[in-house]
Amino acid sequence: MVQYSGYLPEPCLLAPEQVTEFPHFMELSKELQQQLRDWSRWQAAGPALDSSYEAAPEELYMDMLSISPGWKVGGWTRWGLTDPVPRLCPECGTEADPLLTIATTEWDHSSESWAPEEEQANPTPLLPGTPPANFTLLNIARGYDLQLHICPVSPDHPHIELIQ
Ligand SMILES: [Zn+2]
Repeated sequence: MVQYSGYLPEPCLLAPEQVTEFPHFMELSKELQQQLRDWSRWQAAGPALDSSYEAAPEELYMDMLSISPGWKVGGWTRWGLTDPVPRLCPECGTEADPLLTIATTEWDHSSESWAPEEEQANPTPLLPGTPPANFTLLNIARGYDLQLHICPVSPDHPHIELIQ
């Protein structure tokens, strides 16, 4: 029994693909953060770079490289509701790892580099009235993600839930 209707996903196609993502900007060292704010470093990537990011180059990292939107297994945490906080196993105190992210939304126009392979090869418009890439019609805590964490020491230790 699901208590809230927004927590029951609509049936839809699951087409997993493997992606590489990097830690959230706030989880990086101050030195790496400074390097990502340096537009001249990004310009070395070539002329195809979107110059609208020149004022805040770290936004390019956050939109296109760091945290993939949508449902995922593994990966990193999309901080934003709070700054990064320790996620310690209540049994042994070890830092827990992200296991499963249940997302309210998938990619959108501001994160199009995360569009699935089939969308990049053959783009199709979203249906009218459909929230941008919210195919499951889930609504986790008014638009956030629920991320379950697992203790790397033992799967028998309790999992941790995090809304971000
Ligand atoms: Zn543990």
